[in-house]
Amino acid sequence: GQKVVLITGCSSGIGMGIAVMLARDEMKRYYVIATMRDLKRKDNLVEAAGDAYGRTLSLLTLDVCSDESVKQCVDSIKDRHIDILINNAGVGLVGPIEALSMDDMKRVFETNFYGAVRMIKEVMPDMKRRRSGHIVVISSVLGLHGVAFNDIYSASKFATEGLCEGLALQLLKFNVSVSMIEPGPVNTEFEMKLMADVSKKEFIGADAETLYHFRNCYLPTQVNLFQSLGQTPEDIAKVTKKVIESPCPPFRNLTNPLYTPIVALKYADETRSLSIHTFYHMLYNLGGVMDVSVRLMKYLTPGWLRRRTISPV
Ligand code: NAD
Repeated sequence: GQKVVLITGCSSGIGMGIAVMLARDEMKRYYVIATMRDLKRKDNLVEAAGDAYGRTLSLLTLDVCSDESVKQCVDSIKDRHIDILINNAGVGLVGPIEALSMDDMKRVFETNFYGAVRMIKEVMPDMKRRRSGHIVVISSVLGLHGVAFNDIYSASKFATEGLCEGLALQLLKFNVSVSMIEPGPVNTEFEMKLMADVSKKEFIGADAETLYHFRNCYLPTQVNLFQSLGQTPEDIAKVTKKVIESPCPPFRNLTNPLYTPIVALKYADETRSLSIHTFYHMLYNLGGVMDVSVRLMKYLTPGWLRRRTISPV
């Protein structure tokens, strides 16, 4: 039969991309429940879904920051039956931490980390009882390594990776899988929202030198990164589809081959000095991410890379 897939944060970006791709599956293997905080923002999704809307795709309201909203949504689903839960809702935050408010930081954790916890807590017990299910989290390469001026966002994704690594092994006994999807840059509203936020903020509390590094080194590198390496929401949707269709879904799944060597750096040198110094060089433009990647690739065999990256194509 059809698998019921619930996805959070579907009004834009990756969530919308996954919802549309699964709902338009040629073999109609999925019944997608696309959720969002505010159904007034459904138009783009409905348009992209075309005739799948009302057949293999339905919409429900869900705010991952609200216990009540999460419970209400799941209770309204027939038998509370969800085969695949895709935790996608997330928010970013950039800037020197001394200039960010505690409230802004807590909002990131409330959405990215506790949002996933809240969803899993509501859906996992039914999956365990049925002895089947798949929990997927749209994490990030920043859930695997830290990057300057993304400290809080990165911490929220690390926290989620840690949470899920523990769950993955507990759930093996119950035939429930857990998978993390770790995209690099993806061109969605995410980056636009961050840039709009940065242009509004004065970052009071940070010293002039730090702000100089942030505005003149970090931000241009970031823009460059999205332009040169940015994937599309469809790329991430393809990888996600491959992962949920895999007979033995891997726990970690990078989506961008250029990040494989960067992540591998962490394992090549367990003191982390190598990765910290590499990122330092990238940030201060002594060598771009491309350069570093290309140089590292030479040390890694193509077979090794292939085994470690799920290609969207
Ligand atoms: P996006 O801003 O287009 O999508 C995020 C969605 O989450 C939005 O629709 C937003 O309304 C929703 N959302 C925010 N708070 C919510 C809440 N409390 N309840 C329900 N929905 C909420 O950005 P995106 O790039 O599609 O991001 C999706 C996921 O991918 C996020 O978890 C993000 O961290 C992750 N990610 C993004 C990138 C990137 O470069 N864009 C890279 C790696 C990982």
